Amino acid sequence: MLPDSHLPEESAYRPTPFSNFTSTKGVKDDDVRTESKAIRGRKISPLRKKRLGTAGHFFGFWQNFGGVNVFETCRAVVRRAFDRGVTHFDLANMYGPPYGSAEENLGAILKKDFGGRLRDELLISTKAGYEMWPGPYGIGASKKHVVASLDQSLRRLGVDYVDIFYAHRPWPEVPMEETMSALAQLVKQGKTLHVGISSYSPERTRRAYELLKSEGVHMLIHQPSYSMLNRHIENGLLDVLGDLGVGCIGFSALAQGLLTNKYIRGSASAGRALEGESFRKDFLSEENLKNVRGLAAIAKKRGQTLAQMAIAWVLRDDRVTSALIGARNVDQLDDSLDALKKQEFSAEELGEIDQFAKEGGIDLWRETSEL
Ligand code: NDP
Repeated sequence: MLPDSHLPEESAYRPTPFSNFTSTKGVKDDDVRTESKAIRGRKISPLRKKRLGTAGHFFGFWQNFGGVNVFETCRAVVRRAFDRGVTHFDLANMYGPPYGSAEENLGAILKKDFGGRLRDELLISTKAGYEMWPGPYGIGASKKHVVASLDQSLRRLGVDYVDIFYAHRPWPEVPMEETMSALAQLVKQGKTLHVGISSYSPERTRRAYELLKSEGVHMLIHQPSYSMLNRHIENGLLDVLGDLGVGCIGFSALAQGLLTNKYIRGSASAGRALEGESFRKDFLSEENLKNVRGLAAIAKKRGQTLAQMAIAWVLRDDRVTSALIGARNVDQLDDSLDALKKQEFSAEELGEIDQFAKEGGIDLWRETSEL
C-alpha cells in the first residue's frame, strides 16, 4: 500500500491492501505487481513466461486528468489504482486539456506519492503524433517532432525515462523509416525502455516491426481501439501481432462509457455524453442501445456489471495483452477493476454476446487505422 496520503476527507479513497487484489490464472500477487503483462506479447523464455501474469488493466489519462479537472480526484484515482495492482499508467503528450497537463498532473502525483524506489514499480507510457504545439514540428511523425516531444514529456512527468513510447498514429506523408529510426534512437539513448505504435493498420504494423528490427529494437506493443462495439482488430491486426510476438493493449474497452450501465435508459446525468466532445450523440443510437441492453442482461446473468463483462471480454483472447481503461472517479475504477474477479466465458456465453457485440460506429480512430 502507498505511504500515508494527504487526501481530502471528502475523497472516496479508501486504501486497499494490495494483497486483497484478486489476480487470476494462478498468478501470485507479487508476480502481477512486478511484471507488467505488456511484456507478455514478446517472445520470452518459458520460465519467464511462467512468472508473467494477467495484470489485466492499464489505466489511461486521456480524459479526467487534465488541468481542468480536480487534482485531488486524479490523485485519489491513481493511488487507488496502484493499491489495487495497476502498475501501468498510459499518457500522451497532448492529454489534458490543456495539452500536456495530464503529464504535469501525473508528474506532481509521482513527486508527492511515488518517491524513491516506487518509480521502479511503475510502467509509464506516453506518445507523440497528434497536434501538440504550434508550427510544423508540433504535430506528426517526423524525427524532430517525435524526439522533441519525448524530451518535453520527460520534463513534464519529472522522470528520467518512460517505459513505453508510442508513435501515436501513422502519418502517410512522413516515411516510416524516419519515424521508426527516431523511436530506435530514443531507446538507444535510454529515454524510453520500449517502443510501440498506435492505430496502425496490419500492413503498416508489419513494416514498422521490420524497420525497428533492422535497428536492433523490438516493437513491444500495439495500442489499437477495441471493445464489444468495435471489433476491427479481429480482421487481421490480431493475427499480425500474434505472428510477430507483439503485445496488444486495447484502448477504450468501455467504448468511452457506453458499455456500462449508465446509458441503459438512453441518457446519463453526467459524463462524456453530456460534454459533447469525444462521445458523439450518434453513439446513443437505438441500435447501439438495444445491443448495450442485451449485453447488460448477459452481464447480469454472469453476476457482473456490464463494465466488468466488457473488460473481461476484451481480455478473452490471449493475444490481447491488456485492456486500457479510463475512469472519472474511484467508484468507477473500483467497479471496473472487479472485472478480474470473473474473466472466464463459456462458449455459450460468447455465442450469446456475439449477437449483441456488433459494430457500433463508435471508433473515432478507424480512418487512421485504415491508412
Ligand atoms: P473507457 O472506454 O474505459 O472509457 C472511460 C469512461 O467510461 C470514463 O471516463 C467514464 O465515463 C466511463 N466509465 C469508466 N468506468 C465506468 C464504470 N465502472 N461505470 C460507469 N462508467 C464508467 O476508456 P477511455 O476512452 O477513457 O480510454 C482509456 C485510455 O485509452 C485513455 O485514457 C488513453 O490512455 C487510451 N486511449 C488511447 C488512444 C490512442 O489513440 N492511442 C485514444 C483514446 C484512448 P464518464 O467520464 O462519462 O463518467
